[in-house]
Order: sequence, then structure tokens, then C-alpha cells
Amino acid sequence: MSSLPRIKILRSNPRSRDTLEDLIGYMEVDIIAKSYLHIGTGFEFLSIDAIKKFEELVKRARTREDLRSIMSRFSEEVAKEPEAPVMIGDKLIIPGSTVKGNVRSRLELSFIPKDGQIRSCLIRAHNYPLQPPRRGEQGWRHFRIWEHALKFTRDEPCDYTKMQKVCILCDIFGTAGLVGLVHFNDFTGPSIHDVISLNLVSIGERLFVAKPESVFSGRIIFRNIKPLELGLLLYGMGIRRGVEGRSVLLGKHKYVKYDNIKLGIVTYKIKSLQLSKLSSSIEVEITVRPGDKVEGNELGKVTFSLLKLVNETFKEELLDIDEVKMLEQIEARA
Ligand SMILES: [Zn+2]
Repeated sequence: MSSLPRIKILRSNPRSRDTLEDLIGYMEVDIIAKSYLHIGTGFEFLSIDAIKKFEELVKRARTREDLRSIMSRFSEEVAKEPEAPVMIGDKLIIPGSTVKGNVRSRLELSFIPKDGQIRSCLIRAHNYPLQPPRRGEQGWRHFRIWEHALKFTRDEPCDYTKMQKVCILCDIFGTAGLVGLVHFNDFTGPSIHDVISLNLVSIGERLFVAKPESVFSGRIIFRNIKPLELGLLLYGMGIRRGVEGRSVLLGKHKYVKYDNIKLGIVTYKIKSLQLSKLSSSIEVEITVRPGDKVEGNELGKVTFSLLKLVNETFKEELLDIDEVKMLEQIEARA
């Protein structure tokens, strides 16, 4: 462990949150499922039937041994209940916090050190192991995919309650004591009637999932960011040119394939970019003025220029990892 290089994190004073400056606006974004997709609440819910049955059995128990056997049968029952998806009304949703985490962690994991310094404190992925977990251990696929960003020691993650300076991603996305400059609304998807229950027999798990080609629509709102940082947001969504990105991983069981069923592959697609009247202009190949809304071809030109800016500025510091392809390669070798 001690032989791992220690890397310094590049930090600076965060910009003011009290003024409105630089770019202010929002993007309408779709997340398109390219496989089955499960976004869990992390909670397991029990049907009323299961609870009634449990109460009935407990009433009939005579001995401690009876109770013990009821408890063990009941935990099997719990395992069989499908994990509830996140919903608002009768629509499946991907919470804004989940989308934000997905974009942020992809960016964090894409930065690599240059001259002993790195731009990201890896706050979201800070607890990952530094040494590669052995094949089959928790997190080994994740580590294989992102090892270039993981295999060194870096300073503590940013915490604005304890330090004056933060890394660029904490300045944009926020950290303890510092509000973020981008806000992700919940992404609304298909109706519950279009959701199917998937049975993963090999692990005894049932999941409610959205079908491939399901679309979740939401809005990403930003303020006080620079064109380069808007480009970074696109980069974190897997967009490299045009308005739709390459496939990225999101949701439950994204790294592990059970019963040969693929889960958790999505693409991000930018539908429009709207600048507020209070915003500065974006002056690239074409100019987007305050109050303008761009979509289609025009939007493709804007994203192309912003991503070019990202690649030129962070040349040698930003990895371009196709995580879905890498995962396939890892699986093929397994
Ligand atoms: Zn940070």
C-alpha cells in the first residue's frame, strides 16, 4: 500500500454563490434505457398479504422453536418480494439525486493525475479500495473499469466547512458547506403499467424493471458556470459529439449479469438547451444568446464545440472510457 503514489488535489476558492454570472439556464434531457433498468429505493416493501400471513403464523406459534422457524420462513418471503421501483403518481422515475450522482461520479472517475496533481477529489467514490479487489470480490468489475483513476492515494475529499478551497467538481456539484451550481430534477419515465417484473432465479430476486427503449425525461438546471463546465457536464453524461451519448451504466446490477440478463445500460440525450435572459452568451461555432433556446442540428454544433473545449483544456487529464464496452470485455475474459 505504501508504494502507491500520493497525489495532490488541485483546489481553489469556490466562486461566489450570491451573484448571477456566466451561464444560467437549463437542458431538457432524456435518459433512454438500452437494456432492462431498475432504479431502486434501496428499501424492500412487503405486500399486505405477506404481513397478514406473518401475523397469523406468529399468533399460532406455541414455542420458541415455532417462532424461530416462522422467522426464517418469513425472511425467505421477504427475499421473494420484488424490490419497489421509485414512483411519482403512476410513473416510474429516476430521482434527480441518482442522475446527479451518475454524472458526477463518471466525471470524478475520468480525471487522472498530471504532474502529481489531480482535479477531482473523488468525493463520491472515496471509499473504493486502492488495490484491485480479486476477481469475484465486491467491486472488482468497477475497479477494473476505472483503475486508472483509482490506483493511487489522494488527499482527503473536499469539505468546505473545514477548508477554504475545493476541487472543480465540488465547486460545480457542491460539497459539505457549499451548495452546487447544477440542479437535477427527477426524470419521469414510463407508466407503472409498462413496467415488468423480472425474476432473477439464480439469486432468488424479483425486480420491477423498465423495458429497453423506455425513456425518462428531466431537466438539468445550471447557474454561474462557464462554457467549459457546461461541456464537462455533457462529458459526464457520456456525450462525445452530437446530442446523444454513448452507453453508460446506471442503477441496480449494472456491473453483474445474472441469468444472462443485462441491466442498467442507458444513454443520455440532450433535447434542448435554454439560456436565461440573465445569462451570458455561449460564443462558439455558433452563438447562443441570453433567452435563446437551441435544439436539433444547432444544438449538436454547440455540444461539439463545448466538448472540443473540454478535450483541449483537459488533454492528458481526462480519460475517455467506454464503460459498457470494457465491462463486456471483462465478462468475455471471465
Ligand atoms: Zn472535491
